[in-house]
Amino acid sequence: MINAGIITVSYIIATILFILALGGLSNQETARRGNWYGISGMAIALIATVLGVVTQHYVILMTALVIGGAIGLMAAQRVQMTQMPELVAILHSLVGLAAVAVGFANFLDAESHFEGVEKTIHDIETYLGILIGAVTFSGSVIAFGKLSGRIGGAPMLLPARHWLNLVMLLMVIWFGREFVLQSAAGGGIEPLIVMTVISLLFGIHMVMAIGGADMPVVVSMLNSYSGWAAAATGFMLSNDLLIVTGALVGSSGAILSYIMCRAMNRKFLHVIAGGFGTGGGTTAAAASGEQGEVDPIESEETAELLKGAKEVMIIPGYGMAVAQAQHIVYEITQALRNKGVNVRFGIHPVAGRMPGHMNVLLAEAKVPYDIVFEMDEVNEDFPDVDVSLVIGANDIVNPSALEDLDGPIGGMPVLECWKGKVTIVMKRSMATGYAGVQNPLFFKENTRMLFGDARESLDRVFKAI
Ligand code: NDP
Repeated sequence: MINAGIITVSYIIATILFILALGGLSNQETARRGNWYGISGMAIALIATVLGVVTQHYVILMTALVIGGAIGLMAAQRVQMTQMPELVAILHSLVGLAAVAVGFANFLDAESHFEGVEKTIHDIETYLGILIGAVTFSGSVIAFGKLSGRIGGAPMLLPARHWLNLVMLLMVIWFGREFVLQSAAGGGIEPLIVMTVISLLFGIHMVMAIGGADMPVVVSMLNSYSGWAAAATGFMLSNDLLIVTGALVGSSGAILSYIMCRAMNRKFLHVIAGGFGTGGGTTAAAASGEQGEVDPIESEETAELLKGAKEVMIIPGYGMAVAQAQHIVYEITQALRNKGVNVRFGIHPVAGRMPGHMNVLLAEAKVPYDIVFEMDEVNEDFPDVDVSLVIGANDIVNPSALEDLDGPIGGMPVLECWKGKVTIVMKRSMATGYAGVQNPLFFKENTRMLFGDARESLDRVFKAI
């Protein structure tokens, strides 16, 4: 066991590293460094905690660490980039489960001897920790199910669902009062169990009611909840680092949810209230006759248009991730730049399936940061763009978001590529995107459709260039 002073210093260093990590992750150029700060901070935190005061049972602790670490390593190695949000959701559920377990262990701990006001405060911490943990756990499991397609994406809207939520909230408050009173008299386990069950149901109900189109916000909201669950665990265990780390995750997750809501032009409370969006993703809505005909194009002609352009805007979406086309996109970008074409990338804040998804892929393929722009930075420039190349994107370039305000993506700002001279959309079929809405862009006069797997098509385009 190392001395308390060393632990405190280690915790302060870890806290500073976590703050630096968040700062680093806010910008592409510093993201890699930010990640290393985070990894170092977590390593210091783990070592200091293990060597510190947590336990004398090192064999059990080490066995758990090895098993947990091995599962984490395997999961991270196997996961496809496109499954990242699912992995994140299931990891959040574990934070919630840990908070519930710690809460019960803490409550049942025969050696804890709090008295009077201190006991009441400790009981409230335990109650809140289990509550937030249980909501995070069941909500994240449902989010995992929805993101991985195991559960349908359409919102489940029970009759009088807001009243149901209100009744559950009032019950949780009432059982909280019961718990504190009974705990003071030596009992309290029954209200604690009842509240846990209600919180689990609440988590399920809350996320089931949220439609597919709002899932990005839900993932980041659950990220925030998992932070608060960790902070609550920190209070229960009197661990300052866990409190600080939890608060950092909780507040950064909340800020991210806010930014995403703004990007999708949705009000946070409306998202949480649910009922928005459809199953989407897999429903292959055929091109309806009313929309008109589409105008296909081949790879060779695409190459000619790109070579002859002065301004090219590449708009990547989820399909680029599926096709793993980022490397060939980089090759094409270099080839065009060598021919004097000005190539830029326009990135929508919710492109792909997780925040920053496209930026990660482009960084992996070594696309220079200074030609990658956010939607707001390029949206005004489309009238001057000769060719927009939409690679596996759909919802983020859907004009109906601006025209049909009551639709599933109504009000979401989109990349307005149709204002450019020519738009080439690369996808395999006429299937809809994540939100399940047909896209009028495909039927516009200045849109050409390059059908096929994005990587295979781009390979041919590259050869032709
Ligand atoms: P979309 O899901 O709207 O569209 C992706 C398109 O890619 C599909 O229409 C599909 O068409 C095409 N595609 C799939 N595989 C391939 C392939 N191998 N080659 C070529 N094309 C392919 O993606 P967007 O990025 O445009 O929009 C993101 C959507 O995801 C938004 O609705 C957003 O709200 C949601 N979302 C975002 C999250 C985030 O945090 N960023 C998280 C969760 C959801 P086809 O099948 O015809 O090939």
